[in-house]
Amino acid sequence: MKIELARAAGFCFGVKRSVKLSHETLDQGPAFLYGMPVHNQRVVQKIIDHGGKLVEDNPYAASKISRFTHLNSMDEIPAGSTVLMRAHGVTVQALEKAKEKELKIVDTTCPFVTMVHKTAKVLFDEKYQVIIVGEHGHPEVEGIKSYAPNAIVVENAEEASKLFPRKTQYYTNDELMKAKTDAEVVEKLHYPVLTKIGIVSQTTQSNDNVQAVAMAVMGKAREVRVYNTICNAMHEMQPGAVQLSTQVNVMLIIGGRNSGNTKRQAELCAQQTKTHWIESADELKPEWFTNVKHVGIGAGASTPDEDIEDVIAWLKKYDKETNHVESEIIRPAYVVH
Ligand code: SF4
Repeated sequence: MKIELARAAGFCFGVKRSVKLSHETLDQGPAFLYGMPVHNQRVVQKIIDHGGKLVEDNPYAASKISRFTHLNSMDEIPAGSTVLMRAHGVTVQALEKAKEKELKIVDTTCPFVTMVHKTAKVLFDEKYQVIIVGEHGHPEVEGIKSYAPNAIVVENAEEASKLFPRKTQYYTNDELMKAKTDAEVVEKLHYPVLTKIGIVSQTTQSNDNVQAVAMAVMGKAREVRVYNTICNAMHEMQPGAVQLSTQVNVMLIIGGRNSGNTKRQAELCAQQTKTHWIESADELKPEWFTNVKHVGIGAGASTPDEDIEDVIAWLKKYDKETNHVESEIIRPAYVVH
């Protein structure tokens, strides 16, 4: 069996940096983790074992971390404690509260996420109606929204198409001829209802989805400004996994159930070939590989190398014991993401 890794799989730059900062901080003493530092249970467990105490007040995120004991609010963190802010960012309000409580803040927010915060703020300040393409309630999206209080979150083009319905009243040419000024004509015509729409996205969205949302609102404002805020990791990771999925019999996507980018990778690959989304090698089933010649492996941005290597080891063992052959492992050249 040929086992091939996607050209960019596993820990991205932002997650690597956040995990490193977390452990370096915990080397100095215990600290609170405001939000899941990264979306991977094994990685989070290691940080907790090192002395981190989890705090989660976002209902979306809290529903996905039931296996960890956690505090429910920043109010429960004693004043003066050290607090690590998660890689995918926090709200303006959370930062302000942490400062009020005189917490020692170690901000591990990924620079790509910070860039979206800044872009959303500029659009809001310049009076754009901000639209965020992302998952409702996701902590990263809530963080972005806090920088543009007028923002509307849409997950897809269908939701976007329902925004800002146009005026339904129509005028005849004769009625328009009665208008005294150009402005009156424009007002009477069913022109777009908004002047300016500004679009940003959650960093882990797919290009296709953001483009579809932009097209869905194109006729709803005179100006539609779209910022590409999808991070480098996604530009490499998703196309890499999808390209591989067109060549293999079975695709495995490794990553946490609460990881949005892993979910999107799995969905995109499933459009090409049989795809299984797993959190770890423990979930692999021998029947998935009967008569399979070529297996592809992709992984989310918060999936550690150990999880990927565990899956490869399981497949090699399966090949040896069932097919009585040595697997051929293909690892593409390293791609920085
Ligand atoms: S997925 Fe992108 S935005 Fe998120 S932590 Fe990684 S590099 Fe940063």
